[in-house]
Amino acid sequence: MTPREKYGHEVTDDVIIHELGHAIAGHEIGIVEGGIELCDPATGEVARAHYSTNGTTARKRIVRGLAGAYTQTRVNPKALPEGLSEQILRGSIFINYAAEIDSGSVPQLVKEAGLYGDWERIVSEARETAQEIDAIISELRSAHQDLALIYDNRRIEQKVSHAKRDFQMWLDQHDEDVPFMERLFYPIGRLSAVLEQEKDG
Ligand SMILES: [Zn+2]
Repeated sequence: MTPREKYGHEVTDDVIIHELGHAIAGHEIGIVEGGIELCDPATGEVARAHYSTNGTTARKRIVRGLAGAYTQTRVNPKALPEGLSEQILRGSIFINYAAEIDSGSVPQLVKEAGLYGDWERIVSEARETAQEIDAIISELRSAHQDLALIYDNRRIEQKVSHAKRDFQMWLDQHDEDVPFMERLFYPIGRLSAVLEQEKDG
């Protein structure tokens, strides 16, 4: 049985790209990644990239948290609502909306894109770093800038596209060794192998 058969639901490119974005950006900033789980869509979450919070900082967790949507926009700007993509790419998503991180036009677009879970986590991480709203916004903005730099310096877009091919191969692979337990994971070992190759090549 292949993972795709075992899973029994559709896995879109957008979902794969989004989750790989979290996992590869996390890996690049030294976070210990734990593989990508395909979840029951009935729970409202199709997939989740697991990681360990050990030794991480709020900044790193925010950078990693932003990386899913950021990667979607870099790979396919049409994947997200237009206004949102533009602001993500321009780096302005946290600039004009200081008073609007909980409600307002950006969170509304984020909701439409089905990314409100990420948004809530990122905002709550940022709240842990500061009391004043301006400082919270500034933390989010800096994390976004960090991500844009890391993204280009570490060629994350390219790595995501290679890993996406491996993910799709894995989905259709008949292999008794694929970890089919209670939960279905694209194994971190496969992702590490792709990233290792990328280093050599
Ligand atoms: Zn996400």
